[in-house]
Amino acid sequence: MGLIVAKDIYKDYQVGEVSLRALNDLNFEIEPASFLSFVGPSGSGKTTLLNLIGCLDIPTAGTLTIAGTDVVSLDRKARAAFRGRHMGFIFQDFNLIPVLTVYENIEYPLLMVQNVPSEERRQRVVNLLESVEMMEQKDKYPDQISGGQKQRVAVARALVTEPELVIADEPTANLDSTTAYMIIDLMKVMKAKSGTTFIFSTHDQKIVGAAEILYTLEDGTIVDRKETGGNGHV
Ligand code: ADP
Ligand code: MG
Repeated sequence: MGLIVAKDIYKDYQVGEVSLRALNDLNFEIEPASFLSFVGPSGSGKTTLLNLIGCLDIPTAGTLTIAGTDVVSLDRKARAAFRGRHMGFIFQDFNLIPVLTVYENIEYPLLMVQNVPSEERRQRVVNLLESVEMMEQKDKYPDQISGGQKQRVAVARALVTEPELVIADEPTANLDSTTAYMIIDLMKVMKAKSGTTFIFSTHDQKIVGAAEILYTLEDGTIVDRKETGGNGHV
């Protein structure tokens, strides 16, 4: 069975008196260890869909099963716990905590959600610092490093809890294209290393070639699915 199984998913937003359909009858299945992208123009429903997969919101109708759990039926608290156990997040604007160092930002999710002994915690953070090549900057604060370096830290932070799934909503939108390619490449290397599924969204045609599976969204509907093997240029 897939890591993620979505059936007949609808999402409507209520705006005053008007109901706006953001997702319209989505059906898909995502296998473990996928490197997958949802691409589409602004307003096509990418963020809405990633919020559902990330258990930050629930669909108006349909079923969504992640790692064997029916996540729609979970209450808020159970959903938050589920996120902490199974997911890491990478954001467009990095979302590092300004008063924590690079090292502390990566360590932070472990302190929040999991009871990991301090020596293992240190080991995991050090391994990730090495993987994302940020060891030399480990004692710096976010405002002392570049945007690309911030996103490398964010990739490490997303992986420190060893999640099955990392969700990244337009992770390269605030990066120049060279740095964007490097971040997508890094995500791919980390996927190969850890077997973690990466799902990212983008409206940037230049980076979609990196995705091994590519869904195209238009007006809240999946209009295309491609298996590219991910050999497109990044
Ligand atoms: P994308 O991330 O692809 O730009 P979104 O998922 O943000 O698309 O938006 C899909 C549609 O849903 C758009 O028409 C958007 O205006 C609408 N929408 C998104 N979030 C909300 C919200 N909180 N309330 C009302 N409408 C929303
Ligand atoms: Mg969006």
